[in-house]
Amino acid sequence: MQYSYQCQTYEHSFSHPLTTRYGTWSVRQGLIITLVDEHNTVGQGEIAPLDWFGSESWQQAWDYCQHLPSQLTSTEILSVPDHLPACQFGFGSAWAALGASSSPALTLPMCGLLPTGASALSAYPALEQQGYRALKWKIGVDTPAREQAIFRDLMAVLTPGTRLRLDANGGLSYAAACQWLDLCDQASADVTVEYLEQPLPPSEFTTLVALSQLYQTPLALDESVATLAQLQACYQQGWSGIFIIKPAICGYPNDLRQFCQTHAIDAVFSSVFESKVGRRACLQLAEELSNPHRAIGFGVNHWLPVP
Ligand code: MG
Repeated sequence: MQYSYQCQTYEHSFSHPLTTRYGTWSVRQGLIITLVDEHNTVGQGEIAPLDWFGSESWQQAWDYCQHLPSQLTSTEILSVPDHLPACQFGFGSAWAALGASSSPALTLPMCGLLPTGASALSAYPALEQQGYRALKWKIGVDTPAREQAIFRDLMAVLTPGTRLRLDANGGLSYAAACQWLDLCDQASADVTVEYLEQPLPPSEFTTLVALSQLYQTPLALDESVATLAQLQACYQQGWSGIFIIKPAICGYPNDLRQFCQTHAIDAVFSSVFESKVGRRACLQLAEELSNPHRAIGFGVNHWLPVP
């Protein structure tokens, strides 16, 4: 069967720029893929690359999409090369959407993303009011001493029962990671640190494994497992902690599904600030495959309101 194919670009502005240790992010650029079959059924998919995180760049995705013919076969749709994982997701989810009925209801709780730095202290009440019981805060941007002072204040004011996730985006030294983990281990039982995400860069995998055995606070890999190939490699090398999975940059949805259904991993599905087309596909996968006892990382609508 032949499918007619179109690709459109989009740019969405964040309501406030998001600061991480990679810098400041204020515009989300991506692509929407539209496939139409011979019965005029329409399937859409989103390509939302995150090149500083390990996927292809927006430009690489655009170059690939632009050079495809206006009619595609299913073989072409399902043979996007592995070095374009966000494109694989976009084409794979557009193709899946052609055969999909209505979306299932979503039941998983979400984790809300706090602003970086001291702004978290003024922003948390609004997120708590929206019902979030899991919150995430980025670290590794300012000095450990300043961030740890804010962390102590935050832990003291959050509603008992809240789970706080810390995300260093690979930006800590070994010494700073140990300091943070000491502090997390000492946290009160009222507000727990659910996990520390990617304290060290992916190149320090062996040290990450060692660190995960030294402290009670769990560690999660994120940058280390950006693509399905990396996820498989870390699993095979014995990572037994948490895996953060960003489906939108993880390759073909069916390959990810197969991996997660074959291996009993503690997976937390998470957003890359997709718009609604990609978000719908990601949430469906999360509902199927993410650990049901953990909130999913899609509480980001207050950062990027998408019409
Ligand atoms: Mg992360």
